[in-house]
Formats: sequence, structure tokens, C-alpha cells
Amino acid sequence: MSKIEIDKQSGTCFGVARAISRAEEELKKGGPLYCIGDIVHNNIEVERLAKMGLITINHEEFKKLKNVRVFLRAHGEPPSTYEIAKKNNIELIDASCPVVLGLQKRVKKKYVMRDNDDTQIVIYGKKGHAEVNGLLGQTDESAIIIESKDEIDILDFSKNITLFSQTTKPLDGFQEVGDLIKSRMQGDAVFEFYDTICRQVSNRVPNMHEFAQKHDVIIFVAGEKSSNGKVLFAECKKHNPNSYIIHSPEQLNEKMFNEKDSIGICGATSTPMWQMEEIAQRISVMIPKTEIEKATF
Ligand code: SF4
Repeated sequence: MSKIEIDKQSGTCFGVARAISRAEEELKKGGPLYCIGDIVHNNIEVERLAKMGLITINHEEFKKLKNVRVFLRAHGEPPSTYEIAKKNNIELIDASCPVVLGLQKRVKKKYVMRDNDDTQIVIYGKKGHAEVNGLLGQTDESAIIIESKDEIDILDFSKNITLFSQTTKPLDGFQEVGDLIKSRMQGDAVFEFYDTICRQVSNRVPNMHEFAQKHDVIIFVAGEKSSNGKVLFAECKKHNPNSYIIHSPEQLNEKMFNEKDSIGICGATSTPMWQMEEIAQRISVMIPKTEIEKATF
């Protein structure tokens, strides 16, 4: 008899859960509701909300809209989005995550109050990611984005540096980047280092290790574009080489479960619990004599 367990600590983080329920509430009111970018980095959830009427647009399409309702997702937006909305009489339904808004404020404050124009504001994050674009906007696009420690050579270590992080980057990577920059600072230049990683992601890491070790095989469910999905899956893989990342139930394959008695299902902060439950059901149909452990969420 094989057992399937869904990780009780997986499921959407509070920022994403809050955005999804806000969108559902607004959609119930009827009329068109536009969303800039995918509401969540999870195609299946995007499609579910699209069926309810949510229209996903990009920034170019947003600029052309007038007199409509536009939804802002948890990642947050740069100041230019709010300016365009005001100009075009657009009603914004702002579901930016409070954690992201707090980070935007800190970056903006540092930018406005920096001691001299030479201070380099550096963001450890993914270039082009919506949250990072929102942060860049707080600095009039002047912040420097570093994706990994290999990119720090573009910094001028003889001038002040202030380092922030995208909320979903890995803690160890951030620490490494911070330590390296610190070791290369020159003269009187000041280095400030702010750990702005969201604990909704990093606090899941120790649990992921334990969960991954506990099972023979791990099925990690995440959207293809999910940054924290990549981070958390890497943590699973570190502790259980029989870990697979899937984006939809169609990717399940019987070979994944050959002679595996204990199957664990977990996911990213953008993966709703209902998707993991659906995956568990599919596996129980695929593998005879499988039992889904009842969990109290
Ligand atoms: S991971 Fe953290 S910062 Fe990002 S949406 Fe979730 S709660 Fe907000």
C-alpha cells in the first residue's frame, strides 16, 4: 500500500491568497476586470480566473485603456502605473502584497535620502521580474540589478552601496552576495545590507527539507514562471534526488512512482492547495492500492 501526503505547509502564501480572493470578489461584481500580467505564476489558476472573467493584459495594453477597472497583483507596480491610471481615469484594485509595498517604501526612502548621488542602490533579484520592475521604479530606474554573485563586478566598490533583495530570492544566495560585496569595499565607502527576503518563502525551507527526506518520491507543483517555485524545488531536490517538478497533472508519469511506498506532494507559494489535492487524486487513480493521508489544514 503506497501512501500520499500533501505538505500542510504548502499552498499559497498570504499575499497571493489575498490577491486571488480579492480578484474573485471583484469579478463577482460583473463588468470587465483587467489584470496587468498573470495574477499568479501558475497557469492553471490564471485560466480558472480567466474563465471567471479576468482579462490579462501587458503594460503596453494598459497604457491604452481608459475608464475601466484594473487589478494589480501581489508583485506590486512601479509609480508610473499609478500615474497612468490617474491620467486615464482607471480604477485600480490594488492587491499588491503588503510585504512588497513595505519593501518599495524602503527602497524609495533610501533613494530619496541617499547621502550623495554616487550611492549605488543594488537589488539582488531577477531582471524583468514584475516585483523587481516595481522596485526599480522607486529609484527612477537607477537601481542596479544583480542576479547572482557572478555579476557583482559591475559595481564600483569605491563608492557607497546599499543592497536590498527581491522578496523571493534564496537567503543563502543573498548572504553570499552580501559577504562578497562587503569583502571588496574600498576606502571610506559604506556598505549597507538589508535582508528583505519574505519569510513566507524562506521559512518554508527547513520544512521542505524535512518533508523531502520523509518520502520516497516528491512531486513539487509550481507554475513555470514561479521564482520561489524554482528556489523551493531546488531545496527539495537537495534533500531527495527523487524529486520532480510538474506544472500540470498531465506531466505525471507512472515511472516516477516505481516501487515507491511514500509519495509527498508540495508546492510553491503560488500553488493553491486545490491543485495539490487534484494531483494526489490523479496519483491515487494511476497507482493501484494508494491511500491519500487525511490532513487537517
Ligand atoms: S511571497 Fe511574501 S512578499 Fe511575495 S506575495 Fe507572498 S507574502 Fe507577499
